[in-house]
Amino acid sequence: MITTDIGIFMNSNFANKISFADNKRENEKIIIFTDLDGTLLDAKTYSFEPAIPALKLLREKDIPLIICSSKTRKEIEYYREKLDNHHPFISENGGGIYIPKDSRFKVQELRFEIDEDDRYQIIRLGARYPDLRKAIIDLQKEGFAVRGFGDMKAEELVSLTNLTLQEAIMAKERDFDEPFIFYGSKDNKKRLLDSIASRGFNYTEGSFLHILGNSDKGKAVSIVIELYKQKYKRLTTIAIGDSPNDIPMLQKVDRPIIVQKPDGRHDHRIDMPNLIKAEGIGPDGWVQAIGSMMQNPI
Ligand SMILES: [Mg+2]
Repeated sequence: MITTDIGIFMNSNFANKISFADNKRENEKIIIFTDLDGTLLDAKTYSFEPAIPALKLLREKDIPLIICSSKTRKEIEYYREKLDNHHPFISENGGGIYIPKDSRFKVQELRFEIDEDDRYQIIRLGARYPDLRKAIIDLQKEGFAVRGFGDMKAEELVSLTNLTLQEAIMAKERDFDEPFIFYGSKDNKKRLLDSIASRGFNYTEGSFLHILGNSDKGKAVSIVIELYKQKYKRLTTIAIGDSPNDIPMLQKVDRPIIVQKPDGRHDHRIDMPNLIKAEGIGPDGWVQAIGSMMQNPI
């Protein structure tokens, strides 16, 4: 199955037949939002190797790939470099939108306050990280067995995640969202989530539980779509994810796609009209998702 899909991308005749994916008709554009952990990246090894031919095809067809992850800016920059990706990206579950300065979007037309550094225009949607840390400490005082990234040394994160030490250090440089582990029963988890809500924060779930403010991947995706609409009259939007933290992102696009989890199942908590369930775990499913997009024009 997987070999066939990669074969499809190797076959230039196939790719040439696909007018849908050409992205060349004036004012038309396909854009793809993708989650990283467990989706484009293997849940355990963080490899995106199976997706390399499909990534190459997207570049050739000039289809923007917009990373939308719970990872930090530093971590995403690390993968953007590996992927040779120069498009805007969304960090920490929708906490921040980073728009490269050379991308010529009219960011100032948006109704948001814009920050700027030497590389990006930045829209901050997330909570302040110190406030999230304080909430985690308060939850610990309340008796919940929670442990956030901020409680861990980088070495502990390495043993927990398979990240390299360098990646773990980047994962700890957080601005808008705190991932944490909860050691407790299902009943206790319900109490924990209620307590987070009563403190005025939200939670979501990817590879970890996350406490965050009023931001989510969907709000950030809507803003990025607005930016692309400045340039293209007809936009087809696609998103690929694997976990509940992807639901808001999947809800905002024309074509929501999920890949299988490491146990070979699709997350049963994700359910919406038009949902496409790609066959294949993580990056193998990602390849299949791109293949089905190419074969089935909207
Ligand atoms: Mg994920």
